[in-house]
Amino acid sequence: MDGTTALSGTGVSPGIGFGPVHLLVVEVPEPPVGARHDGDAETERTRVHNALEQVAADLEARGETAGGEAQAVLSAQAMMARDPALAEVVDTAIGQGTAGARAVYDAFGGYRDALAAAGGYLAERAADLDDVRDRAIAVLTGQPMPGVPEGGGEPFVLVARDLAPADTALLSREVVAAFVTEEGGPTSHTAILARALGVPAVVACPGATGIKAGTPVLVDGATGIVRADPPADEVDVARKADEARQAVLAAATGPGMTADGRPVPLLANIGGPADLPAALAAGAEGVGLYRTEFLFLDRAQAPGEEEQYAAYREVLDAFPGGRVIVRTLDAGADKPLAFLPPPGEEPNPALGERGLRMFRAHRQVMETQLRALARAAGDGSARLAVMAPMVATREEADWFAKACRTAGLPEAGIMIEVPSAALRAADLAPAVDFFSIGTNDLAQYAFAADRQLGSLGALQDPWQPALLDLIHIAATAAVSAGKGCGVCGEAAADPLLACVLVGLGVTSLSMGAASLPAVRAALARHTTDQCGLAAQAARAAGSADEARAAARTQLPGLASLAM
Ligand code: PEP
Ligand code: MG
Repeated sequence: MDGTTALSGTGVSPGIGFGPVHLLVVEVPEPPVGARHDGDAETERTRVHNALEQVAADLEARGETAGGEAQAVLSAQAMMARDPALAEVVDTAIGQGTAGARAVYDAFGGYRDALAAAGGYLAERAADLDDVRDRAIAVLTGQPMPGVPEGGGEPFVLVARDLAPADTALLSREVVAAFVTEEGGPTSHTAILARALGVPAVVACPGATGIKAGTPVLVDGATGIVRADPPADEVDVARKADEARQAVLAAATGPGMTADGRPVPLLANIGGPADLPAALAAGAEGVGLYRTEFLFLDRAQAPGEEEQYAAYREVLDAFPGGRVIVRTLDAGADKPLAFLPPPGEEPNPALGERGLRMFRAHRQVMETQLRALARAAGDGSARLAVMAPMVATREEADWFAKACRTAGLPEAGIMIEVPSAALRAADLAPAVDFFSIGTNDLAQYAFAADRQLGSLGALQDPWQPALLDLIHIAATAAVSAGKGCGVCGEAAADPLLACVLVGLGVTSLSMGAASLPAVRAALARHTTDQCGLAAQAARAAGSADEARAAARTQLPGLASLAM
């Protein structure tokens, strides 16, 4: 230690990030009840009108930068800030002596309650109204604006308790040097998104939100070390090592293959067409997991058949001659959808109506998606395969395969992410065309450890030998039945573990685009036999750490990649 402060968390997206801390503000405190202005009502009104106009103009400008659907949402919010009826309520309260910030709070609160009471689509807009209110109050009281700041200046390190997909959707490496969160595990959406964006990230880092805004910090997304106020030479050394690593990775190109020439297709995990450029740039040979629920998020209704068809087509067209695996809607638990609420209160949503269970229960949603997919499959040169999430039994696998056949879909597979499906993989394999192992949920259910809880990160570690055993059972069953078995959970994105997965019998690997080069380089440095020995050694270990260490001794080529 050299006098600077170092915090330690879980590195979930490798790379070095350096920049000043920006703390994500999620709440602007409520202005005190009964707060009064200094008696000059006219000046106070002008101050409030100016603040609301500033907020409206800022939202509009952000909308123009974002474009698309985000622009429509942000323009609607700008209109809320400029609503004359709201301004009138604020003016009246100021006339009675109420301080501007409190008047805004009360006026927006009245509208909010009316919207919330209306239910449905309008109720969902209540959160947008709260956001406008908080922004106006932040301007009036001189507090930091809630949400993530725009780019333009030096890239910053975004520090938060946790990040929602909406906070991070518009970010890029040019704006954010690194993410650091106090909560979240290796399979949380912060981790997945950070890897998708290629931004270094550390999660489950206690004390991170205690770092003062503006403090320069050095983030190592591989080791999980976050150092505040680092000496300049340390930043230089870290950056140079990162550059050297990037150069090695850039030199590894072509299809995924072990050193002895065994092909291991390297595929991309995507949330929609917006992720295609990164996937193609990283040399993805196809798509191993298209999470279609991203098309359904933040919507009052399911997207129609045409809209879905267009999105699926765009993805298929990007990989002529390649393979694209689309997952049917995985709603519920960590992926709640406004228009598909669970049928009742669910004390444990992760164990509730979700994934395939939800899909089966909503016939129309299911039929529309399968129809859109079948049309897309028939119109292009990429090979479309469709898979179901959260399959637990043979009956569910049979049902899904039949539904796909009825819809005219050429290939139907299932995700193996519930331990029952892994244990009975030999029974499920004949029912479908392929497996894809979802290690994120498989770890969650095998260890009874909520994937959204950073404090349980050790139990969600994909190196846990029990998880490796389940993967081995599933892959062996698939291979015996002559079927492919991919991994599309986050485990595939770890270069060391990727080699072990191949040794366990896995036939393809799918991950966020940013992880592809490192996995490609790791496979190219090791033979199938070395991967097999590493898998044996890892399964023979007594803990996740021992498994990692045991595999490393069998895979010497990783040292030169600094992995
Ligand atoms: C998984 O569970 O491993 C998986 C790939 O699916 P998701 O992360 O979308 O639940
Ligand atoms: Mg899953």
